Amino acid sequence: MAKIVGVMASERIVAGLVEGSQVVGPVRTYPEPGSESEGLYGVPADEIGALVRKQIELVTGGTAVEAVGIGFAGIIRDGHVEESPNLQQVKGYYLQGAIGSAFQRVLVLNDADAMAAGIAATRGKLESLVRVWTLGDGIGYEGVWEGGHMVVTLDPKEKFCGCGGVGHLEGIMGHAAMRRRFLDMEPDEVFAEAKTGDARCAAFVRLWHRALAAATATSVHLDGPGKFYLTGPNARFVDVERLNIDLHDMVRMSPLQGSLFEVVPTSDEIAIVGAAVSADRARFSL
Ligand SMILES: [Zn+2]
Repeated sequence: MAKIVGVMASERIVAGLVEGSQVVGPVRTYPEPGSESEGLYGVPADEIGALVRKQIELVTGGTAVEAVGIGFAGIIRDGHVEESPNLQQVKGYYLQGAIGSAFQRVLVLNDADAMAAGIAATRGKLESLVRVWTLGDGIGYEGVWEGGHMVVTLDPKEKFCGCGGVGHLEGIMGHAAMRRRFLDMEPDEVFAEAKTGDARCAAFVRLWHRALAAATATSVHLDGPGKFYLTGPNARFVDVERLNIDLHDMVRMSPLQGSLFEVVPTSDEIAIVGAAVSADRARFSL
């Protein structure tokens, strides 16, 4: 069976060797667990490329692999990072070129696409359409473009999105955007305070859920109802019951009802598998 390296690079880098739909051997992470490092924030693009290559080399240990798949946080086209709102220094960087010389076949794809492929390969085998929201620093949604920047409000005051756009989903839900909004509180505190009845925090948590429901409703109105997986570090903030009620308010036509949310705990393995299976598929279409 083909051995493929799967990599996910967003705030940090994780990499592993994949066979079938499973990670075999140890998972490499940068920064290493317990490190004080800030991850990839502010790290120049060339250095990020070198760090990714280093993790791949650690994973392969010099043995030949069929392909390398790299999920990266941003809009990816033809191996270039066209835009990366949370790692802006990488804009325009030819990541595939930085890796490609050392390995035969390299696919760079959007991180949310990789996550969706991983969930499809490991969890969603029975579904024809796998839709995944990745809730972290940014908001990922599988697709060529950046679904996290979907407009979910016409309020001109909603301008916390890292891309500079007004009214964006990520400007409400993204971790970085929440820190920009609540300068005096971390997102964990905001969600905790909302539970104890703090009015400002509770109103925000309502908005946070309604924003995700709105973006999901748009997807339902464009592509039909179905299962929506929620993953990423901030999926832990989701109240699925509240989200279902909000979505129900926004999708009233009966043929379009019946969508479901399922929280999938963030797992490096799923991301790595997703990047690898995507590269495996691309191998045959090239
Ligand atoms: Zn945006």
